[in-house]
Amino acid sequence: MKNYQSWGHYPKIDDNKQDVYHVYPDSFSFPEPNDDATDTPSFLAYAQGRSYGDVCQNKEGILLDTQHLDHFIEYDREKGILRCEAGVTFENILQLIIPHNWFLPVTPGTKYISVGGALANDVHGKNHHKAGTFGRYVIKFELLRSNGERLICSPTENIELFNATIGGLGLTGLINWVEFSLKKIPGSNIEQETIRFNNLQEFYRLSDESDKDWEYTVAWIDCLATGDELGRGLFMRGNHCEAKKKHKFKTSKLSVPFNAPGFLLNKYTVNAFNHLYFKKPIKQYSKVDYDPFFYPLDAIENWNRLYGKRGFMQYQCVIPKEHREKAMTEMLTLISASSQASFLSVLKEFGDIKSPGLLSFPRPGITLALDFPNRGQKTLDLLNELDVITLKFSGSVYPAKDARMSAESFTKYYPNWEEFKQYIDPYFSSDFRRRISPK
Ligand SMILES: Cc1cc2nc3c(=O)[nH]c(=O)nc-3n(C[C@H](O)[C@H](O)[C@H](O)COP(=O)(O)OP(=O)(O)OC[C@H]3O[C@@H](n4cnc5c(N)ncnc54)[C@H](O)[C@@H]3O)c2cc1C
Repeated sequence: MKNYQSWGHYPKIDDNKQDVYHVYPDSFSFPEPNDDATDTPSFLAYAQGRSYGDVCQNKEGILLDTQHLDHFIEYDREKGILRCEAGVTFENILQLIIPHNWFLPVTPGTKYISVGGALANDVHGKNHHKAGTFGRYVIKFELLRSNGERLICSPTENIELFNATIGGLGLTGLINWVEFSLKKIPGSNIEQETIRFNNLQEFYRLSDESDKDWEYTVAWIDCLATGDELGRGLFMRGNHCEAKKKHKFKTSKLSVPFNAPGFLLNKYTVNAFNHLYFKKPIKQYSKVDYDPFFYPLDAIENWNRLYGKRGFMQYQCVIPKEHREKAMTEMLTLISASSQASFLSVLKEFGDIKSPGLLSFPRPGITLALDFPNRGQKTLDLLNELDVITLKFSGSVYPAKDARMSAESFTKYYPNWEEFKQYIDPYFSSDFRRRISPK
C-alpha cells in the first residue's frame, strides 16, 4: 500500500483512514458538492510527498494522487520548451532532456519531485542568486477548479490565478499540466570547487565573491561548532561543463530498509560526523557528473528513515542580508547550546530576482536549512525560539519544510496571505492551511 506521509514523517497520518482519489488525464471530475456545502470534503493534490511537513496532507479531506498524470505532451528540442502533465517527475524530465544538452532551469536538492509540486511550492535551488525560482520559467499551465472550469493561466491569461498558483501551496485547484522553459548546457558535467571555511565571516566572503562567476553555490555547515569556529563548513560552487562520456542514468541501489532506532542521530553522533566531514580530505577542483552534485541525498533511498519512527522536523528560514551576521550568530549559538543537533545544515545566499508567486518563500538574503530528529516538545520549543529570531530580523520560514509554525508567525512571514485568500478554491484545503489560518 502506498503511504501518504510527508517526507519528515511528522505530523503522522493514518494511511488506513486517508481518503484518496487517483487522478487520470482528462477523465477526472470533482464530485458534486453536497447540498450542505459544509459537509463537502476538501481536496488537495498529493504528488511525490517530498514536502517535509503538512502542505501535502489533508487528513480531514481527500487527497488527489497525481502519479498517473505522468505524460509528456510537447517537447521543442530547438527552443528548449517542455509541456508535460503535472505528475511527471524531475527525474523523468532529466532522462528526456539531458541527451540534448538541456537542463532544468531550477532544481531542488532531490530529483524525485513532480512538476506540480515544483510549481505549487515555487521551489528554489543552488542557482537562486542567478536564476530565481522555478515559477519564473513557467510559461503557462492548466488549472482545474472544483466547479469543473479548466483555466489556462499565464502572464497574460488569468494572471491573478497564475501568480497565486505559483507558490500557492496547492490551494488554488488542481494543476493538470505545465509548460516551462529549459536551460541550455554545454554537457552533463559540473566543474566543481569545494573550499573549507572556518567561520561565518569566511562564508560571507566566499559567497559574495562567488555570486558573479558561479551558477551554483551552497555550503554545508557544522551547526555544533562554537566560538571562533561558529558556522564553519564546506563551500561548494559549480558551473555546467562538457562531459567526455555520455551520461548513464542509474537508479540508486542503497536503501534504508526500515526506521532506524530513534537515538541514532543524537548530539554525540552528529558532532562526530560533523568533525570528520569538516576535516575530510577535499579535492578543491573536480569535474563531476551533475547527479551527485545536485542530488547527493538521492543516492540513498528512504534516507528519512534514519531519523526513526518519530520522524524529523525541518526548519528553513531566510533573513534579509543586512541582518545576516547578527541573526545567523544568534541562531547557531542557540542550536549549539541546545541538546539538539541538526544533521544536515545548509547555508546559501538568495539573490534579488523576484518570483511572480504571490506567496513565494525566497526573498533576498541568507537562507539556513536545518533538520532535527523529532524529540517532541523539546524540538518544538527550539523551533519556536528560532522563529523568535527570524521574526526579530524580518525573515520568513518555508512552508514546504514546515510542520509547526503558528498562525501568528505565518501571517507575519506572509503579509500577502490576505490578498491570496480570494484565489483559494472553495473546496481545496490542507492540514497546513487549517493550522496557519484556522478561521
Ligand atoms: C531531499 C530533499 C531536498 C529538497 N531540497 C529543496 C530545495 O533545495 N529547494 C526547495 O525549494 N525545496 C526543496 N525540497 C522540498 C521539495 O522540493 C518540495 O516540497 C516540492 O514541492 C515537493 O514536490 P512533490 O512533487 O513531492 O509534491 P508534494 O510534496 O506531494 O506536494 C507539495 C505541494 O504541491 C501541491 N501539488 C502537487 N502537485 C500538484 C498539482 N498537480 N496541482 C496542484 N497542487 C499540487 C500539493 O498539494 C502540496 O501543497 C527538498 C525536499 C527533499 C526531500
